[in-house]
Amino acid sequence: MSVIAVDGPAGSGKSSVCRAVATRLGYRYLDTGAMYRALTWAMLHEGVDVDDAAAVAQAASGVQIESGTDPSAPTIHVGAIDVSGPIRGDDVTAAVSAVSAVPRVREQLVALQRAEVDRARSESRGIVVEGRDITTVVLPDADLKVFITADPRVRASRRALQDAGLGKSAVDVAETETALRERDAKDSSRETSPLAQAPDAIVLDTTEMTLDEVIDRFVGLVDGLPQE
Ligand code: C5P
Repeated sequence: MSVIAVDGPAGSGKSSVCRAVATRLGYRYLDTGAMYRALTWAMLHEGVDVDDAAAVAQAASGVQIESGTDPSAPTIHVGAIDVSGPIRGDDVTAAVSAVSAVPRVREQLVALQRAEVDRARSESRGIVVEGRDITTVVLPDADLKVFITADPRVRASRRALQDAGLGKSAVDVAETETALRERDAKDSSRETSPLAQAPDAIVLDTTEMTLDEVIDRFVGLVDGLPQE
């Protein structure tokens, strides 16, 4: 039962791959991006200025976030509110990098993330945890570390397709690419826990791969881990 840490830039296909891998292996699945999005949704909902780090830090401490870790039906709640739809909105996407750059926010969510890993371990279940700082900061001792990436143009077309599937109107690939690049630049340049490739992470560049090929490669990596 392994702990698997996965990082990568926006739109790299991490979520689809990690969910599928966790489902195949009977593991838990934790989408930490959804947690940062949920906290951001709460800030917007409460009218907190997301560019005011002190205000965000203060308001964040009162927000209760609950992640469901079944990979076939992951859930995310703020208090009793199911926010799985609203956290994918453009307003949240535009504000999430500012909120997630606040050190107090990261402390709060990293504690929750490690608690989910402990819970999986105590149930003798493996877990796949995905995000931006999982291999470097949250779980540096994970059994397997993977960095999933792809060419920005390809990531943008995949994300635009996904957005169209979510019913968003006027999804333009060039605009999506600009937005992805901006979010990556913010996430990679922040002071606390920036997006970075861990030196011991296995890199999966999915530019030329189908989803099934990536999943197979990934499951092969897990199967190749030394048995406990
Ligand atoms: O993975 P997703 O694109 O949903 O993540 C949304 C945002 O949450 C990222 O752009 C980043 O700002 C933040 N994030 C983070 N650390 C993580 C996961 C996500 O800062 N571990």
